[in-house]
Order: sequence, then C-alpha cells, then structure tokens
Amino acid sequence: MTDVIVIGAGLGGMSSAIHLARRGCRVQLLEKNDTTGGRANIIDEAGFRFDTGPSLLNYPWVFEELFRSAGSDLHEHVELLEVEPGIRFHWTDGESLQLSSRFDRLRDELERFDPGVGPRLSAWLERAGRNYRLSFERLVTSNAENPLQWLGALRLNELAGLGLQRSIYSQLGTSFRSRRIREAMGSYAMYLGGSPFDLPGLFEILPFGELNYGLWLPRGGIYGLVQAMTKLAVDNGVELQTGSTVLRIIENNGQARAVELADGRMLAADAIVSNVDVPTTDTQLLPAGKASHKGQQRAGRMPMTPGVLTFYWGLRRRITGLGHHSIFFPDDYRASFDQLMQGNAVSDNPPFYVSLASETDPGLAPANQSTMFVLIPTPVLSRLNGIDWQAQPGRLKDYVISRLRREGCDIESSDIVFEQRYTPADWRDRFALYDGSAFGASHKLFQLGPWRAQNYNRHLPGLFYTGASTTPGTGMPLVTLGGRMTADRVLQHVS
Ligand SMILES: Cc1cc2nc3c(=O)[nH]c(=O)nc-3n(C[C@H](O)[C@H](O)[C@H](O)COP(=O)(O)OP(=O)(O)OC[C@H]3O[C@@H](n4cnc5c(N)ncnc54)[C@H](O)[C@@H]3O)c2cc1C
Repeated sequence: MTDVIVIGAGLGGMSSAIHLARRGCRVQLLEKNDTTGGRANIIDEAGFRFDTGPSLLNYPWVFEELFRSAGSDLHEHVELLEVEPGIRFHWTDGESLQLSSRFDRLRDELERFDPGVGPRLSAWLERAGRNYRLSFERLVTSNAENPLQWLGALRLNELAGLGLQRSIYSQLGTSFRSRRIREAMGSYAMYLGGSPFDLPGLFEILPFGELNYGLWLPRGGIYGLVQAMTKLAVDNGVELQTGSTVLRIIENNGQARAVELADGRMLAADAIVSNVDVPTTDTQLLPAGKASHKGQQRAGRMPMTPGVLTFYWGLRRRITGLGHHSIFFPDDYRASFDQLMQGNAVSDNPPFYVSLASETDPGLAPANQSTMFVLIPTPVLSRLNGIDWQAQPGRLKDYVISRLRREGCDIESSDIVFEQRYTPADWRDRFALYDGSAFGASHKLFQLGPWRAQNYNRHLPGLFYTGASTTPGTGMPLVTLGGRMTADRVLQHVS
C-alpha cells in the first residue's frame, strides 16, 4: 500500500487526502493547529461564531463533486443557505449597487446605472458563461506541463475570446458603459492579487460565476463545510493528527521520503504532499540542497496577493441597514489598488468588506445580536517594514465605524461586546502564510496554469504541493479542485 503524508489540513490538504485515501493510499494528515480548515477556521466565543477567513462560498458543484467522489452526498451533511441578493457595493458619494443571481432583479439594478443594458447584459452572460465553462473544463483542472499543452486544449477562436490580451476593467467595458458596474465587478481582482486594470480579462468569469451559481452560506457558517470535509476525510480512513507541526521534509536517496515533527517523531512515506503555502514550504521546510536553493529563489520572485487585517465583532444588538455582504470603496478607486500592490503603508482610507453572516444564519449569534466580520486589505508584510501593528487596528476601527455610520448603519463602539482581530502578522504566524499574504500567490497572466508554481517539486521527486499558491489557484473551490489534481500527480509518481 502506498503511504502518503499530507502536511496541513487546509481545504486543499483535506481534498488531496480524501482523493488519495479513496484511491487506495494510506494517508496521514498532519496539522499544526488544533483545528482543521487552515485559513477557513473558526472563532467560537461568548455565544458568537465567526468564520476567520472565507465568507463567500461559490460553486457548490465543486463540493458536491468531492463528496460524490467519496461515495457521499454533500447535502446530507451541509445545509446550504442561499444568500440572495448578493454583494452590495458602496461608493463615498452614497451611491450603491447590489448584485443578484436573479436575472430580472440584476437587469433592473444595472439599468439604473447603464440605461438599455438588458441586451448587453444577456450577451455578457453568454460570453462570460462560455469562458467560464471553457476555463473549468479545459484549463483550470489541467495538470499541463507547458504553455503549449495548456493553451493547446483550446481552438484559436476560443483562445482569442478569453480576453487574455485585455485587463478585466477593459474587458467589462466592452459590455458595460457605466464605470460603477465595471468597478463593482472588477473589484474581485483584489483577491487574485492584482488590480482590475492589469489582471487578464478572463477573470470576468469571477463575477459571472457568482451570479450564475449564486452565493451560499452553510448553516453554522463556512466552518460547517469544513467540519463536513473533516468528517469525510476521517470516514474515508485518513489518519488525522492535529497539534502536529512538521519542522522539515527529509530527503533519502534524492527523494522526499519522510518528515520530522516538532515533537521529535520521524514519519516515513512514499510521497509527501505539502499544503503549507508553497513559498513557506520552499523557504522553511525543504532539506538543504538544490531544491531548497531553487525554492528560496522562487519565493523571492513570486508576486503575492495582499495581506489583510480582519476584525471579528460580536454586537449586542441586531444591526439593520446592511445586508450579508458589503464592499466599501474609497474616493479614488484606481489609486486604492495601486496603493495595495505597490504602497509601503496601510492607507488612511482603504477599501473594506463587511460580512454580517448572522443575517443569513441567526444561529451564529445570540438572539437579536449580530456577528460582524470586517476585512481590510493591506500591502504584504515585506512592504510594511517597521509598522506598529498595535497602532493600526484602533485607527482603522474608527475609520470603518464612521464610514458605516455615513452609509446609514448606526453602530457605536459600545455596541461591540466581543472583539478579536488578526493582523497580517497573525495570519502569517497562525497559518504559515508567506509574507502575510492572505490569498497566496497572485494570478497575473504569467502566474497561471503552467507558469504558476506546479503542484510537484522538479528538484525533489516525491514532494508535491496543494493549496492556494500552486495550481489551479486560490479560493475554496479552486483549492478543493486542486486537491484532486495533486492526488493525480502523486498516483502517477508512485505507479
Ligand atoms: C481573510 C480571508 C478571506 C477569504 N475569503 C474567501 C472567500 O470569501 N471565498 C473563498 O473561496 N476564498 C476566500 N479566501 C481564500 C481561501 O481561504 C483560501 O484560498 C483557501 O482556504 C486556502 O486553502 P489551502 O488549501 O491553501 O490551505 P491553508 O488554508 O493555507 O491551510 C494550510 C494548513 O497548513 C497548516 N500548516 C502550516 N504549516 C504547517 C506545518 N509546518 N506543519 C503542519 N501543518 C502546517 C496550517 O496551519 C493550515 O491549517 C479567503 C482567505 C482569507 C485569508
């Protein structure tokens, strides 16, 4: 029987472990924290239950597929609550735009900004839908070795239609005349580590995917899904060990064949899968030698997505006037992206995101109270040398509360009866996120598919990667799909 060690029980690690166990391997899953889920973790205190990281669940089909492939049914284990309407975007002049997965509602909303948009919206849904399907069927899930093989899966006219030659902002501009619509739909670029003015137009499939497949919240929060995936892994024979920190990967006869743990144990295997962020694995876990040398070089030049400062507020009353998901833009939309990607300070008026998950699942807070999650993107840690993290949260908290009040959400500091916050340094330390980057390696064109860090190490056979910084990319659905791709690689290697 093939023995595999998976380091890290994030979503990618668990997905890999499940696929490997289903295909006959003995899998040991080693997680340094006491809970599984990685960034998708939980704070459960004072009657409030918060998801630490992801709050927007898209593409339930990915999780349905995972459960089906393991002989189970997602919907028997997770109740998915629809979040409809979806995200509301707010500008400083008081204008706001709300997305919806219902065509008529969406069209009526967009009409306010772009009269006569109906037929162009239909044409956009058709185009972005075609590109979404092409991407997921032929590009995203392909373990292609080189650009020719990767892009060769498409015909020339399909390739030309993807919008790789344009930015998301200008690709959206071919369908929508209103700057507000382009700004709202283009803002997803932030999670991919770029600006809508430079990431490829192909990524208009993100707002499409959200509109087409809807937004969901598992009952009990995103962590409800994490718990179901953890159970699926254990039920399929994965040997899960929490509180088990791997210190280094050990090489034997030129192959990755064992790991050394902080508690002194050595565990041997036929293959090692690291779900620890790729550049962290490359700089901290590899044995001395060529792989480690190459890994240091790769980490030094890998563009990363921004960091985040996150607040978890338990509010003593139910907050009205905001829906579940809201995004607040600052005055200068374009400059805020430049500042995030190239700046050396946390802005005085950054964009931010607010989730009131208890609006969809009241069970997440005590009766008539609310859970509020606030996410403020920041530059990565290496751009913020010497920053005083003690000073930042206070000023940013005041900024968020005063902006919320201006938008009609009457919240006072005294309403916050529970508070927890994670700075980018906390994110780095808790989950080993390289440079405090929240979403992993960025998705610029030359960080996609075969140009992205591959899910195996060329210089150390037997070592594989899974998770946000390898292929196919970041986000809960992608790392879950990526887990299967990594399992395929491992099985190819050992067969
Ligand atoms: C604030 C925030 C908001 C987000 N919002 C969304 C969203 O709304 N929707 C969405 O789809 N995605 C979102 N994402 C992205 C999503 O959370 C990630 O892409 C995904 O969860 C990453 O999974 P992963 O497989 O890379 O594992 P990770 O979450 O990176 O987990 C890796 C695991 O490895 C463990 N580990 C690290 N070092 C060691 C070691 N030495 N030994 C043992 N174990 C170790 C860690 O403790 C961790 O459990 C968000 C992320 C953040 C941070």
